[in-house]
Amino acid sequence: MPVSGPNSHEEAARRAEFLLFLKRRGIADRNLLRAMETVPRDLFVAPELLQHAYADRPLPIACGQTISQPYLVAYMTEQLALNDRHKVLEIGTGSGYQTAILSRLARRIYTIDRFRTLTAEAEKRFAELRIANITTMTADGALGWPAQAPFDRIMVTAGCADVPDALVDQLGDDGVLIIPVGPPGGEQELLKIEKFGERTVTKNLLTVRFVPLVPGKAASL
Ligand code: SAH
Repeated sequence: MPVSGPNSHEEAARRAEFLLFLKRRGIADRNLLRAMETVPRDLFVAPELLQHAYADRPLPIACGQTISQPYLVAYMTEQLALNDRHKVLEIGTGSGYQTAILSRLARRIYTIDRFRTLTAEAEKRFAELRIANITTMTADGALGWPAQAPFDRIMVTAGCADVPDALVDQLGDDGVLIIPVGPPGGEQELLKIEKFGERTVTKNLLTVRFVPLVPGKAASL
């Protein structure tokens, strides 16, 4: 549980500062700002890192993975231009923080991680927050989720060497895919791929550094 409740003075001041920071960095979508304000990031970080929960940097989570920095979560979400009719696929559940933000802005979220520990912990957090429009799966996200395709939006939060074909195939018409692509061990270019019929248009957004997309489901965890 968070150390200070949402009504405490200190917590309110911290959230106000967090919102101001996001606005100054250029995040303008009101529904997104509302989601960033109301999803408690402290629920998604380990107790010993609570004092850094709202700092603009990634933090370590279980299984050697990271929770993304809040600015990037907001930026990538804004680039998806979500509405409440959208069905979204997310690859890389991690802590579930990004998933929870998406769940406030779209109709239904399907999210995949290769570690069972992470999908299980994220599910507990969704239940605690009474979020009911997220479905999780422990699997190799590079294969997408064929049974639920097509998706209006797809977001990948792990660095990929290439754009997996399955994800482009599972993107619907007028769909948007946001994905970090770059050589293993280095930085990635965050790509925005828009699909119009059989045609795709790719834009480079910015340079980022995500933990790598690792092929296959994790064996034991
Ligand atoms: N969005 C997360 C951050 C995720 S870090 C958050 O805000 O907390 C990237 C995640 O991608 C890790 O949890 C990692 O386990 C997962 N991942 C890596 N390769 C994967 C694959 N092939 N399929 C599914 N998930 C994968």
